[in-house]
Amino acid sequence: MTVELISVGTELLLGNIVNTNAAYLAEKCADLGLSCFYQSVVGDNEERLAAVLKTALERSDIVILSGGLGPTEDDLTKEVSAKVMGRKLAMHEPSRKRIEEYFISRNMELTENNWKQAMMPEGAIAVNNENGTAPGVIIEDREKKVVLLPGPPNEMIPMFEKSIMPYLAGKDSEVIYSQTVKICGVGESKAETLIKDMIDSQGNPTIATYAKNCEVHLRVTAKAAGEKEAKKLVKPVVKELKNRFGPCVYTTNADITLEKAVVDLLIANKLTVSTVESCTGGMLAARLINVPGVSDVYKSGYITYSNKAKRRILGIKKGLLEKKGAVSEEVAKEMAKGAAAISRAEVAVSITGIAGPGGGTEEKPVGLVYIACNVCGKIKVRKCNFRGNRAKIRETAVSSALILMRQCILEYYSEVTF
Ligand code: ATP
Repeated sequence: MTVELISVGTELLLGNIVNTNAAYLAEKCADLGLSCFYQSVVGDNEERLAAVLKTALERSDIVILSGGLGPTEDDLTKEVSAKVMGRKLAMHEPSRKRIEEYFISRNMELTENNWKQAMMPEGAIAVNNENGTAPGVIIEDREKKVVLLPGPPNEMIPMFEKSIMPYLAGKDSEVIYSQTVKICGVGESKAETLIKDMIDSQGNPTIATYAKNCEVHLRVTAKAAGEKEAKKLVKPVVKELKNRFGPCVYTTNADITLEKAVVDLLIANKLTVSTVESCTGGMLAARLINVPGVSDVYKSGYITYSNKAKRRILGIKKGLLEKKGAVSEEVAKEMAKGAAAISRAEVAVSITGIAGPGGGTEEKPVGLVYIACNVCGKIKVRKCNFRGNRAKIRETAVSSALILMRQCILEYYSEVTF
């Protein structure tokens, strides 16, 4: 089945707000196995909205509109959709009651235009909104379905997850099941090359590739009559992906992040960790500390931005800093040594680099970053040349440090080679 998304709102057209609803809905529809070939953005204008909706209905089975369900004059998604679908609007008693209760329970004053939100196209399904007043709407007309959702993401997302996803899943008698294989330390193009044959011959299940910062996620999705059958189709493909990518696969659980995988690895090996950062200014520490349960393993984080701090806190020799420079393999190594020594952590990771935009030279350009990982005295240093602006370079450095940590711990304890 095909789905088409229409985002309604002049604010979206003017660029005043970012269309996060479309990104969210597109991803969720793909998870449901629905093919989305078109998306549109249209302002709060009756004629243009009607035209966009008519076009969408000609070429797609399901049309999902978000925005314009509010109480004001310019909120006309429901009115226009009812007209296009040839339905009259009538007061929907349960919605009227719900809106009344919503206002009373919050001690808010109800105004006349709030009743507009309780009007429903005849024969439509009203969808409960637990976080606002505008109910969602489903209009079915033979093979076509029109779904209307409120614009605010904090109303739209819970409504979509609680009511619309089960509705859409039920529309297709088949069950969709996905599993994500997350890979780190392999670029997107290399990853695709390694599985080109699998992608070229894919059918059911499908393999979708998503490139993230320093990671590639491969989502394997199968459709079958039941969940058991769908899982059975996905299993051998996931197994094959794990074979091909070996230790670069850090999880097959969509909820596990790279930092969580690293923290789990530290916990499993009873290792404590400290971080020492220059150009990333604590971002690595923040990512690790974001993981619940990290307190079992995380010891100290140092930000040694200046040369003086590197000398005073870590004991790095002035001569070495002068001779090799703060951004060098030798200093990265000394940082990881120093942090391990003063914090008495088994693992210490350091980052030193030039995030730009200034400070680069021909010999040491912007984007040059050294990352060192010290596991029980065994130190590995990685020289990286990152591209992008300051934010991108710093973000990539942190992801690369997590990948290096994972590799070093696995090499030390499991004798895995990368
Ligand atoms: P309300 O009852 O709040 O008026 P509504 O359904 O009429 O809701 P809109 O008036 O179109 O929705 O949008 C309300 C707010 O929701 C916008 O100001 C914006 O903050 C957010 N919003 C709307 N559409 C989108 C979108 N496509 N992506 C992200 N945010 C959106």
